[in-house]
Amino acid sequence: MMYPWQGQAFRQLAGERGRLPQALLLQGPQGLGKTEFARHLAQALLCESPLPDGSPCNACVACNWFVAGNHPDFRHLGVEDEAVDEDGAGDTSPRKGSPQIGVDAVRGLAGFTTTSTHRDGLRIVLVEPAEALNVHAANALLKTLEEPRPGTLFLLVSHAPARLPATIRSRCRAVPFHPPRTPEAHEWLVQSGIANPVLFLALAGGAPLEALRLARQDSGQRAEFLRRLADPSQSLVQLSEFVARLPVPEWLGWLERWAHDLVAQKLAGETRYHVDFRDLSARVAAHADLYDLLAWERTLRDAKRLVHHPLNPRLLAESLLVPLLAMR
Ligand SMILES: [Zn+2]
Repeated sequence: MMYPWQGQAFRQLAGERGRLPQALLLQGPQGLGKTEFARHLAQALLCESPLPDGSPCNACVACNWFVAGNHPDFRHLGVEDEAVDEDGAGDTSPRKGSPQIGVDAVRGLAGFTTTSTHRDGLRIVLVEPAEALNVHAANALLKTLEEPRPGTLFLLVSHAPARLPATIRSRCRAVPFHPPRTPEAHEWLVQSGIANPVLFLALAGGAPLEALRLARQDSGQRAEFLRRLADPSQSLVQLSEFVARLPVPEWLGWLERWAHDLVAQKLAGETRYHVDFRDLSARVAAHADLYDLLAWERTLRDAKRLVHHPLNPRLLAESLLVPLLAMR
């Protein structure tokens, strides 16, 4: 499937059928539907009687195989293919780092990319999320890209392309994805049953699928957390206990956006994300020092990048919330 804001990018790439480079890097923020787009493009390119606009027919043998998930000329390398980091091979303890795509997954492509295709068409490899390739897997993929096989297309999908080796990026054509225009995103969210698209689209930084996810799982915890943050009677321990019950990426995301809002208030009098707490961010920012805010924002960004499974979420919360208490 494809989303309404992806029509132009699809038409352009589908129009290059037969002339595409060997690797495309679909890059852009999370929540724009890049992976769905990549799968739709793959189905369209494998389809044996595409529609005039390049869309898959959903009726031919190839489309039936693709939809059933067993097209012989399509492979998906994802983190589920090899969840174990080679550095910790044999280690069955809970993983400390983020999930990875390991080297065996890439090596497993050797037979796939060297034998002839089943339907005399393309063979397509979707690598998603590409930034999950570990260093060994990236090197193996690089070797494959350095010896291109005619008729093979790699679709790499990434929201953090800077984490990919420059040598891989240089062998891909970058296809940038941007958030759709706000009215278009609002309309889609309303059609998806979201009553307050303005708030959730702001919280998601303009990414519609992320906005939909936030809206559907919103249980009022974010608002409750922000109210508590501003309440001087709430101690550090109480605040930490409150957030430690929630998933780390969730509250870390709220805090990161809150820090961004405070900096934006300080610099430009604007609130970008928590637009329902605009007055509060203005009030807190008025008391805060800009350099303290910038330092706190950086700390949160580092924490989000480095901490996937903290041993003690409450301690992590305490350490990240301390600077904020001095500001309220
Ligand atoms: Zn078809």
